[in-house]
Amino acid sequence: MIIVMQRHAPKEDIERVINEIEKNEGLKPMPLYGTERTVIAVIGDERKLDEHHVRSLPSVANVMAVLQPYKLASRETKHESTVIKVKNATIGGKEIALMIGPCAVETEEQTRLCAQAAKKVGAKILRGGAFKPRTNPYAFEGLKEDGLKILRAIGDEFDMAVVTEVMDLRTIDMVHKYTDIFQIGTRNMQNFDLLKEIGKSNKPVLLKRGMSSTIKEFLLAAEYILANGNHEVILCERGIRTFEPDTRNTLALDTVPLIKELSHLPIIVDPSHATGKKRLVAPMSKAAIAAGADGLMIDIHPNPKEALCDGDQALLPEELFVMMEEVKKIAEAVGRSI
Ligand code: PEP
Ligand code: MN
Repeated sequence: MIIVMQRHAPKEDIERVINEIEKNEGLKPMPLYGTERTVIAVIGDERKLDEHHVRSLPSVANVMAVLQPYKLASRETKHESTVIKVKNATIGGKEIALMIGPCAVETEEQTRLCAQAAKKVGAKILRGGAFKPRTNPYAFEGLKEDGLKILRAIGDEFDMAVVTEVMDLRTIDMVHKYTDIFQIGTRNMQNFDLLKEIGKSNKPVLLKRGMSSTIKEFLLAAEYILANGNHEVILCERGIRTFEPDTRNTLALDTVPLIKELSHLPIIVDPSHATGKKRLVAPMSKAAIAAGADGLMIDIHPNPKEALCDGDQALLPEELFVMMEEVKKIAEAVGRSI
């Protein structure tokens, strides 16, 4: 159930409704503050709440049932699209958010060359993994805290925000120290304990779609983060497993307009991990923006042949420059800017 407050309802009236919900054991109020309107979602067994009494409270405009199981992530609950600001970047607004960098932080020099190229095309967020989830246990697993230090230092050098993956409950505090955005990877999309703990943190979260997850499961994973109090969730479509062996994953681009219908959360696309092939990154980036994506996550590397992780999908800086000229045209055509 959601309680929709009147436009510009005074704080006291919002608090009165919150108190009314809290009087019922097992019910939790979750206020979502919009620019004009506040909506209070009621989490728990809502039958406990005296709906008629709530309707009679000052500044209550409406009390509505939310049909979707992802109550807080649903657009039924919050009509207005969520816009997230991180340093100089905006995710979910008119501007296309670009998160560009190496798959894995390898050296300071490699990360600096990536940041330089990313910055040149207008990226305000530098990506780079320090904890790498690898299929093969003998593969490079990232530089861990040393990698986080490099990413932070280079991010600061170029005045960019940084995003990096957190894989484990035990390293949340460490990653929190260095990053601006927590990334939860495809393999951890349903690591519910991790989602709950990240939900208690105060930094935005980039949640990647599980490679075998449905859209409903994806939004329910986001719901875990929202329900724990962190409302800054950015969704990322990164391809799903299908029977097709010629691409690493299958990029499900219809997810973008569908998520836009179902949820107020911003959604970006990662064509690098979706396709696994660098020549497919430019066309799929353009398609993602045309489909309404709020941003792109792109792997680059100054020397992809020597990359310690995912070299086949990494663009060279020069290739990124060419691609972004084209992406910019598509963005302009659909009323977005870079
Ligand atoms: C990544 O972005 O580095 C990554 C490992 O992505 P995914 O979780 O989508 O495979
Ligand atoms: Mn990768």
